[in-house]
Amino acid sequence: MSEYDYDLFVIGAGSGGVRLSRIASGLGAKVAVAEDRYMGGTCVNVGCVPKKLFVYSSHIEEDLEDGAGFGWTNSGTLNFDWNKLRDNKTHEISRLNGIYNNLLEGAGVTVHSGRARFVDHHTVSVGDTTYTAKYIAVATGSWPFIPQFEGSEHAVTSNEFFFLPRLPKSAIVLGGGYIAVELAGILNGLGVDTTLIYRGDLFLRGFDEDVRAFAKNEIEKKGVKLVFNNNIRSVTKVSDGFNVSLEDDSSVNTGLVLAATGRKAHTQDIGIENTDIALNKAGNIEVDSNFATSVKNIFAVGDVKGDYQLTPVALAEGMALARNLFNDQPINMDYDNIPTAVFCQPTIGTVGLTETQARERFGDIDVYKSDFKPMKHTLSGRDERTFMKLIVDVNTDRVVGAHMVGPEAGEIMQGVAIAIKAGATKAHFDETIGIHPTAAEEFVTMREPI
Ligand code: NDP
Repeated sequence: MSEYDYDLFVIGAGSGGVRLSRIASGLGAKVAVAEDRYMGGTCVNVGCVPKKLFVYSSHIEEDLEDGAGFGWTNSGTLNFDWNKLRDNKTHEISRLNGIYNNLLEGAGVTVHSGRARFVDHHTVSVGDTTYTAKYIAVATGSWPFIPQFEGSEHAVTSNEFFFLPRLPKSAIVLGGGYIAVELAGILNGLGVDTTLIYRGDLFLRGFDEDVRAFAKNEIEKKGVKLVFNNNIRSVTKVSDGFNVSLEDDSSVNTGLVLAATGRKAHTQDIGIENTDIALNKAGNIEVDSNFATSVKNIFAVGDVKGDYQLTPVALAEGMALARNLFNDQPINMDYDNIPTAVFCQPTIGTVGLTETQARERFGDIDVYKSDFKPMKHTLSGRDERTFMKLIVDVNTDRVVGAHMVGPEAGEIMQGVAIAIKAGATKAHFDETIGIHPTAAEEFVTMREPI
């Protein structure tokens, strides 16, 4: 009989917490998870899932327009009903919440609905009840951050965006990262006059320079107004929306101010002060390579560590921690070559190093680029182009970076990521037979380095 109620108590049933709980339970551990908001966390409720559903919706008018060149016309009027999209999405997510709950209970995990707070290093409370556990894991994720400016309380974040009571006629999106470009694309596609304001020279800092420049052109062509080297100074409520004053002394009226200015570790109100868990300067929980915090029986996975705020990384970390704790064949997380996609329009897909990073690391690199009009647009007539880029370490011939801006870049890059993870060389890419006619075949037919 264990001296604890549970072998593992997980705080937070988001991507990392659910995966950790299920796998640990499957490995024979007695596991509980506590969640006080929504099953599935940010990704399922106010992140990846609703975002992708909204991206589909925001593309439909354009798809119908493209149909004209293929012989399809619609003589009726096309209407968009925001309430229907929002409510259908919410309904689907309720279904997913239930599935997550069933998955946990089916795996033998005890689910506590309520906020868990540390009492000491082996005890948490949920409501009036306390539970002890040999190991405790913090998987509380992250929370949107809004910078302080006069009237910043008028700005909403991605949390509220998915539940807006009505769609505004115009919107200002502040920020130049994943969420800003994705949500600006959705708003624009749904017919909202959208302006993205970013404080630097060019958005998507950290992405390959060619990708950033290419994405800027394509996103502008779609109609999103891009304002760089500027920032919000203040927001004032006016009768039909907000007046936004910018640092360049200009001002503009808008129906919505959406701040997509980063996310911070969610460590508030979990009783962290009752522990010796160390946070770094940015407020993230610090862990070692086995996800242990400064308290050896307390662990952390996912966004709350502040490093890679990506659902698939949290999933992999949850899996790795479960195995490290309860399996005699522990696994190490490998953070190299994590592929990601930004679901702006067109989509960005990327894996491996940018050209700048590869040049710094390897010196001698070959760069292959392709910029073309997708076949679909020969008939649709749409002025949209696709961009692809491969970066090769000349000494080993290994492909060390692949980047794409174009339709289905996320789908395509997942396969390319496997090749790169497996150490594929440019010769392997060249020997691979293309699938014709696709955009993806361009990745195996680029012959001349730039
Ligand atoms: P990001 O960190 O990607 O971007 C934050 C943006 O806000 C940056 O452009 C940053 O500018 C800007 N910013 C930060 N502080 C201020 C400020 N005080 N004033 C003005 N601008 C500011 O965060 P996001 O919120 O876009 O997304 C959070 C995380 O969620 C991402 O890092 C990503 O990992 C994850 N995510 C992943 C998605 C996917 O995989 N498709 C989708 C959505 C989110 P600067 O560049 O100058 O620092």
